[in-house]
Amino acid sequence: MSSRRRTARPSAPATCPCGLPEPYERCCGRYHSGAAAAPTAEALMRSRYAAFVRGDAPYLLRTWHPRTRPARLDLDPGTRWTGLEVLGTADGSAFHATGTVTFRASFRGGSLHERSRFERVDGAWVYVDGDFLE
Ligand SMILES: [Zn+2]
Repeated sequence: MSSRRRTARPSAPATCPCGLPEPYERCCGRYHSGAAAAPTAEALMRSRYAAFVRGDAPYLLRTWHPRTRPARLDLDPGTRWTGLEVLGTADGSAFHATGTVTFRASFRGGSLHERSRFERVDGAWVYVDGDFLE
């Protein structure tokens, strides 16, 4: 992970859509391009949210567990994602093989509250499935 010694200035250009105060290229952009792999389940979850924001269906499919991955993914280009809030995590660190992330993803007109399950496949974190919460 990159160190974060400085907090981003409010005027900093284009922070990552995942909500972390980093430029996209230094945050989820590295995972989307394949230059790096998300080190934790939370990092993968954030990068998948950012992929939804950017309409990156290939990234979403390749970070989906082969067991649960849909044959194809049609993103609704009309969805306007407005923010991600990670509410809690369990396991999912460099020392775990599984993990869960509870989050709220907001879009214009509503929000999605979900607890997602993640596993490692060949060392890389992938999304398995999730439960919708009230
Ligand atoms: Zn990010």
